[in-house]
Amino acid sequence: MVDIAQNLAAVRARIATAASDAARDPDSVALVAVSKTQPPGSIIAALKAGQTVFGENRLQEAAEKWPALKAAFPGARLHLIGPLQRNKARRAVELCDAIETVDSPRLARTLARLMEETGRRPDCYIQANTGEEPQKAGVLPQETDGFIGLCRDELGLPVKGLMCIPPQDEEPSLHFALLAQIAHRNDLSGLSMGMSGDYETAIAFGATLVRVGTAIFGPRQLRPET
Ligand SMILES: *Cc1c(COP(=O)(O)O)cnc(C)c1O
Repeated sequence: MVDIAQNLAAVRARIATAASDAARDPDSVALVAVSKTQPPGSIIAALKAGQTVFGENRLQEAAEKWPALKAAFPGARLHLIGPLQRNKARRAVELCDAIETVDSPRLARTLARLMEETGRRPDCYIQANTGEEPQKAGVLPQETDGFIGLCRDELGLPVKGLMCIPPQDEEPSLHFALLAQIAHRNDLSGLSMGMSGDYETAIAFGATLVRVGTAIFGPRQLRPET
């Protein structure tokens, strides 16, 4: 049996240690509990243990689980951390409190229009493809400054920062450093980076959001990819 409350306490303690080792305020790092594939019972255990911010990577799954969870736990906040198709953007704006995967001008323009229409303004993070991997979502590093300008200055999106998922077989710190550098030169304070295997390193490089799944909930259920 996975003890979710105990895992959460351990992750929080490690976040606090990593922050003070980096001479940072532990409160400057928020934990996003990644609950993709996890059943509502596991999420409720985390909510009851005081966790408030959660991440899901598929909007369809989020829309099945989260309306009821949010009704029962009004303080809960949901971050979308997976690719967003434009035909699901309205649902994302209605349901999510942050969209961490803004990665194309077309999506950005759609989000701007939907925020206007709905009056809801979830935090936006721009996903950068720091490893320049062809199969991975995200804006290429050399295009990121221009894309931030479009999102923030032209479209008026509430851009809080940047997000990245480093290549699996590379040293993540190079990617964390690159993301921090791009954020710094664009006056963005938010950095969503670090997962179960590398969140302490990410904190050393300035992460303000760490996205941790298996270290909290244990191994994920397998599911068919869509
Ligand atoms: C699944 C996922 C995570 C969490 O990964 P763990 O290794 O289970 O901590 C973080 N970020 C994104 C974008 C994910 O899809």
